[in-house]
Amino acid sequence: MVNIQNYDKFIVAFSGGKDSIACVLHLLDVGVDKSKIELWHHIVDGKGETLMDWEITEDYCRQFAKAFQIPIYFSWKVGGFAREMLRKNSLTAPTVFETPTGKYQVGGKRGKKSTRLKFPQVSADLSVRWCSAYLKIDVFSLAIRNQKRFTGVKTLVISGERGQESAARARYKAFEPDRANLKNKRIVDRWRPILEWKESKVWITIKRHKVVVHPCYYLGFSRCSCKFCIFGNADQFASANKISPDKSKKLQLYERRFKVTMKRNISLSELIANGSPYKSITQELIQVATSKTYSGKIFIENWVMPAGAFGKSCGPT
Ligand code: SF4
Repeated sequence: MVNIQNYDKFIVAFSGGKDSIACVLHLLDVGVDKSKIELWHHIVDGKGETLMDWEITEDYCRQFAKAFQIPIYFSWKVGGFAREMLRKNSLTAPTVFETPTGKYQVGGKRGKKSTRLKFPQVSADLSVRWCSAYLKIDVFSLAIRNQKRFTGVKTLVISGERGQESAARARYKAFEPDRANLKNKRIVDRWRPILEWKESKVWITIKRHKVVVHPCYYLGFSRCSCKFCIFGNADQFASANKISPDKSKKLQLYERRFKVTMKRNISLSELIANGSPYKSITQELIQVATSKTYSGKIFIENWVMPAGAFGKSCGPT
């Protein structure tokens, strides 16, 4: 167990998924002072129109934070996933991050011009699976390195990877110095408190706190990654296609334009045809998950297990 007394600040990498919720609840359960916690969420599609991610995610995260009275700060790469994917002999876009004193923009002026014009590869290798590296990991690093409030204090970054999710995650360390750590200047450690947890423990914890999870779980998704996550299986894509046919069509058009499919050996249209949409999808749930505003509850007395719990999950490794 990490000695929480050693830290001045606690940043939860908050995707809005069940594991990041479990991390927040665990911090509260072990007695971390709420006033020291903040949630950080990286918006995959940036501000504006969504392509890959759930429309509701940003506001669900905001409402969750509000209900728990914990500050949340959003950060994103300008133009998000689409702009990065459509890079043609150009630099990667700047990063914007929110702070207690306002919004700041950094980067995007130096580096190497390059061309992508293809989807990230379905791989554990972050050099080809560029979405995780460019839209999350780098955005986080820029946001913490460019805020003086983290200099001279001890910060613990909490993330919700679980070993049960993949062989790669099972090899992660539960505790280690974070990439943003700068010896004698900025102490930043990484803690993965639920690395050893089984999925059942995550749901038991969420149930005990009576938390309503992200709408995608009620639709039948077992993991709250992007709606069209590159790791998705046939049923996930068939479900996402049913929920957002226009976005699905757009992604299929990109495949034809790039002449490179998202999955190595199968086009999205074939993948969708091979899958079956989840039976739990209803028009009412689609409406909630594809809205930009979350007006549902965060706490509920009569808690029910979402349809997606314990399903076959295919998400980032
Ligand atoms: S959820 Fe999937 S598509 Fe989205 S950023 Fe992560 S790996 Fe990429």
